[in-house]
Amino acid sequence: MEDQLQGTFAEVLQRNPGEVELHQAVREVFESLVPVLRKNPQYTEAAVLERICEPERQIIFRVPWVDDSGQVRINRGFRVEYNSALGPYKGGLRFHPSVYLGTVKFLGFEQVFKNALTGLPIGGGKGGSDFDPRGRSDGEVMRFCQSFMTELYRHIGEYTDVPAGDIGVGAREIGFLFGQYKRITNRYESGVLTGKGLTWGGSLVRKEATGYGCVIFADRMLATRSESLDGLRVSISGSGNVAIYAAEKAQQLGSRVITFSDSSGYVVDEAGIDLDLLKQIKEVERGRVSDYVDRRPGARFVTEGNLWEVPTDVALPCATQNELTDKDAERLVANGVRAVAEGANMPCTREAVALLREHRVLFGPGKAANAGGVATSALEMQQNASRDSWSFDYTEQRLGEIMATIHDQCLATADEYDAPGDYVVGANVGGFTRVADAIISLGVV
Ligand code: NDP
Repeated sequence: MEDQLQGTFAEVLQRNPGEVELHQAVREVFESLVPVLRKNPQYTEAAVLERICEPERQIIFRVPWVDDSGQVRINRGFRVEYNSALGPYKGGLRFHPSVYLGTVKFLGFEQVFKNALTGLPIGGGKGGSDFDPRGRSDGEVMRFCQSFMTELYRHIGEYTDVPAGDIGVGAREIGFLFGQYKRITNRYESGVLTGKGLTWGGSLVRKEATGYGCVIFADRMLATRSESLDGLRVSISGSGNVAIYAAEKAQQLGSRVITFSDSSGYVVDEAGIDLDLLKQIKEVERGRVSDYVDRRPGARFVTEGNLWEVPTDVALPCATQNELTDKDAERLVANGVRAVAEGANMPCTREAVALLREHRVLFGPGKAANAGGVATSALEMQQNASRDSWSFDYTEQRLGEIMATIHDQCLATADEYDAPGDYVVGANVGGFTRVADAIISLGVV
């Protein structure tokens, strides 16, 4: 990194001590920016780097609620409104025991560039809580969501900040959150949250969008080498919203999806996974992936090692950050992997990304490959604003067009910066320049 980038990075470390995921995310973007700053001295003059790294607002609040046994519980809630140069803050809420300010900041930082890449008018933010919805009753989840929204409502709005789901926050949680927002404000302001149910302001294809978009992106990367997903083996990690719909689209495009996982282990189903069964277990019964093997002859549940040991053509990490390490990448390369596309946010470690790029494996970074979710959230906001609802086919067509544009822009930007075929450079530089130009236009605010 050049001096100015080194200096700003040192400031980020000093101002955000211990927030290692944020450090990783900032460093990864900065590593792509050397030629951008040389070519555009106005970014340095206007202190764009410093401004982009400092969130506009960080909110931390207490979330008290009562569990089913009558005991009072306290969790911590967060909303980091990172950057609104391009539009209202937009980004999901994560409910997971591992969530702390650093998680939310890293996700918010990534979100700024991802949202810019979609070309849609949305800024970046992220939120969440260290609350764990797993094993909690519907009543407990509802009481927690109501308490969370009782503080959050004063910070959000359809022109201010529009949260959505992420790990641990799906349609059930969005329903409880929206209900409480409506009650407190006495406004049916559909555009304040996305990922809503279809009968109360949601958009068709939103549920599928992140996973579908990731697979569309992977297929377009393969097309640059005259290949396609048809007939390939695909390994997916996770078994949540992103993983399930990545599997669905991969199957639609003719691949054989052979793995999925959760935090207790992974399943290998060499015959190709039975998606109806997986949806029944995860979406209806809220069960564990190990339940799948009890009902599916030939499938095995593995708790040793991880699923990247299974030979595959295409790897789609769709669970959580830093789940695919350099050792995993080495194994994937040794087994002949052709493409890796990040469905999750920052699932590959920095070393893993370096190794994949070194071996010229097609690599789609999350900012680009998983942007279909937030893009379709923006389409949901458009439908809410015009009090309209679009058909599945039309919305999916829009998603396809957006993913194709992101893919092609990444390649064009990478070419412009002498890094042909490098999607990391394309995504980081493309996202950064769009936000940076808007920051300068808006003056020092
Ligand atoms: P879900 O909560 O629906 O699913 C998460 C999945 O990942 C579960 O299978 C979960 O298993 C697994 N997982 C979570 N944490 C860990 C962990 N520490 N170790 C191993 N497995 C883990 O979340 P989503 O599918 O919505 O999100 C998955 C990823 O995609 C996240 O990185 C998210 O930020 C990203 N993303 C999501 C978008 C969306 O639209 N939902 C949009 C863009 C990115 P378990 O149940 O055992 O915890």
